[in-house]
Amino acid sequence: MIILKFGGTSVSTKKSLKTIVEIVRTQRSKNPIVVVSAISGITDLLLSLTKVNANKNTIFKQIENLHLNLIRDYYESVPNDLKDYLLESLESVDELLSKKNTSQILDEIISYGEIISSKIITHMLNDAKVNAKQIIATSLIVTNDHFGSAEFLPRETEQKTKNTLTPLIKKGIIPVVTGFIGSTKQNKTTTLGRGGSDYTAAILGFSLHADEIQIWTDVDGIFTSDPKLIKQAKVLKVVSYKEASELAAFGARVLHPRTIRPAVSSGIPVRVLNTFNPKAKGTVIKNTNLDKSHIVAIASKRKITLVTIYSTDMLLNKGFLAKVFSIFSKYNISIDLVSVSEVSISASLDNNENLEQAIKELKEFSTISTTKELGMVSLIGEKIVDVKNILKQIFSILDRSDISVRMISLGASDINISLVLPSIHVDQSVSLLHKALIGKGEAL
Ligand code: ADP
Ligand code: ASP
Ligand code: MG
Repeated sequence: MIILKFGGTSVSTKKSLKTIVEIVRTQRSKNPIVVVSAISGITDLLLSLTKVNANKNTIFKQIENLHLNLIRDYYESVPNDLKDYLLESLESVDELLSKKNTSQILDEIISYGEIISSKIITHMLNDAKVNAKQIIATSLIVTNDHFGSAEFLPRETEQKTKNTLTPLIKKGIIPVVTGFIGSTKQNKTTTLGRGGSDYTAAILGFSLHADEIQIWTDVDGIFTSDPKLIKQAKVLKVVSYKEASELAAFGARVLHPRTIRPAVSSGIPVRVLNTFNPKAKGTVIKNTNLDKSHIVAIASKRKITLVTIYSTDMLLNKGFLAKVFSIFSKYNISIDLVSVSEVSISASLDNNENLEQAIKELKEFSTISTTKELGMVSLIGEKIVDVKNILKQIFSILDRSDISVRMISLGASDINISLVLPSIHVDQSVSLLHKALIGKGEAL
């Protein structure tokens, strides 16, 4: 059994939809489970409906037209059942908008992107004589109640997934599952974080002990850096689980940061492939035993915040660090990098949600300063810290262009060197470092 996940751009053109039908058909004997994202732009449009002063009618029309145009392009005329499903779904969204604006209702609203796309793709597969059935993942994936970025509960999910999907697979029916969404034990819809359909694929792969997870996207695989920014970036044939998860966590959008964990814990290889170039070999993420120290790729984040917490009695106060981190944890704020001195802690965050409340609590026992307009550049590779003169090389490359670094982290893991620097210098730094440290080498 294999998982085939198709991302937003892959489900957004007639040509790529035809390719998807072909990919599913040719892999039919491997018992595929299909996972789909919403059509490109739909999740953002659904989110914008919930903003104060949103022009609801215009946005609803845009969502409707984006779907109808795509369906019309594919079929020439819009099948009635698809049109009815779309309009009914949008009515449900409208009803939800009249409820109190909570994070729980917000998740329910944005779940409709995947609910609609999975219906359309199921229809297209059936039309091509592939026996497929739409499955809404609220009936499969059980999560905690962190609305907006929920985590799955393995035991409960495995049971539900097996009960629902195994009988279908046995009958030769291909499930087409909504990416991005799950449900709490109390049956409240949750979402898994932006880009979370990759995570859905990994969760299903884990729960059903799949042989492989295929992530179909709009580039040829995992590159040495974002190929849309760095023209010289090369596709990597093999990437280790650790490298892939570090790349995802430090900004390479090609994979959702949580994707790798369920795959690793069950040893399932993940393959990243291109729907727009299906013959390309892609990248395999698996267990590798590379002894050589090397730089594999560079990832970046353009917008991070550095929070510095000062306290003069920090040294005397044994529980200080624990107190600080428990506040971040209470507000579900995740930290990328930390640096600690005798009197201060600096933490870099890429999400400012709940930060105000956390700072209010931190201020009860410390002085806080926050710096915005910073970004982060991360160089990734197994044993990267052992690369000869690596820091000297990085600093001389950046120095030559007068780029100053605010914070550096290495050694916490031997796989990542991260630099915090002004956001305006992020793209230039990635480009300079890629050219000097990776560009000349062969693709691995
Ligand atoms: P999907 O909609 O298929 O989930 P995403 O837009 O989430 O696709 O992810 C694919 C994009 O990730 C690529 O188009 C590319 O611009 C970006 N990306 C960033 N870093 C990398 C990298 N190292 N390798 C490949 N793609 C990357
Ligand atoms: N549709 C969701 C998003 O735009 C999930 C995904 O595409 O993976 O974030
Ligand atoms: Mg994605």
